[in-house]
Amino acid sequence: MPAVLGFEGSANKIGVGVVRDGTVLANPRRTYVTAPGTGFLPGDTARHHRAVILDLLQEALTEAGLTSQDIDCIAYTKGPGMGAPLASVAVVARTVAQLWNKPLLGVNHCIGHIEMGRLITGAMNPTVLYVSGGNTQVISYSEHRYRIFGETIDIAVGNCLDRFARVLKISNDPSPGYNIEQMAKRGKKLVELPYTVKGMDVSFSGILSFIEDVAQRMLATGECTPEDLCFSLQETVFAMLVEITERAMAHCGSKEALIVGGVGCNTRLQEMMAAMCQERGARLFATDERFCIDNGAMIAQAGWEMFQAGHRTPLTESGITQRYRTDEVEVTWRD
Ligand code: MG
Repeated sequence: MPAVLGFEGSANKIGVGVVRDGTVLANPRRTYVTAPGTGFLPGDTARHHRAVILDLLQEALTEAGLTSQDIDCIAYTKGPGMGAPLASVAVVARTVAQLWNKPLLGVNHCIGHIEMGRLITGAMNPTVLYVSGGNTQVISYSEHRYRIFGETIDIAVGNCLDRFARVLKISNDPSPGYNIEQMAKRGKKLVELPYTVKGMDVSFSGILSFIEDVAQRMLATGECTPEDLCFSLQETVFAMLVEITERAMAHCGSKEALIVGGVGCNTRLQEMMAAMCQERGARLFATDERFCIDNGAMIAQAGWEMFQAGHRTPLTESGITQRYRTDEVEVTWRD
């Protein structure tokens, strides 16, 4: 029964997880939270990760009730993500693998999300909506690849929400998206925003510019409230995501949809996706914040699948890459 240790640190979350044969034994995580109105810069984020990663490693082993000898493989996020945070975590993974004399595995972050979602929900072959601060993709498995059916052509949906939160000076604790979701529940007026679906792809940067403009103007005149804008932004961008997911499901004849990524724990998005699935006679699968927000166990789980299938990452290839597409990986562990 191999146990895999996973390191994740591609953005502002740092996590260390342990997975053994489909069981998450530990999954501690810390988030780098910055002041309202600001985002997180790569250098500062890497400094945060370096300061807490060894404590997290100890915490994960203690929680799992394991020692270094019980670990069979060290998995880490190779990419995609921000360069400095990725590098700061990879260096620790590489060092630990050498100190403990364990094999190393570089994992695609997006595939970590998919494998974690499949493990936790039991979805067999879902059409995946992967939505986060850095990624927006509709993915379906075929012939040993996770194929991208649709994606954002500019910024990620979570980035659009995060940057709007900065305009309104909404708190980043626990996350800007969570606070937008709470404010949106109190929104009453739907402000019309651009709806930008282009074939199977979506675009968010124009919507962001538009609502930034609207926010200044309509808030000043009292025509709408910050809550109305949060509500309108969510309704618009989530409808776009539901539309392209439904089109991919229709194309694949899919009866399962799975939402992964940090935006995936938004209950309004889950509600809208569930309504679409119900109308198609399909099932929606989603996870809560422990597993859909970036975490170490998702890297351990994808690593576990890869380890079992015989993958290994030699030290000479154990670097990081900021750009690493979901469909670059040959998925040898699925039929
Ligand atoms: Mg992610």
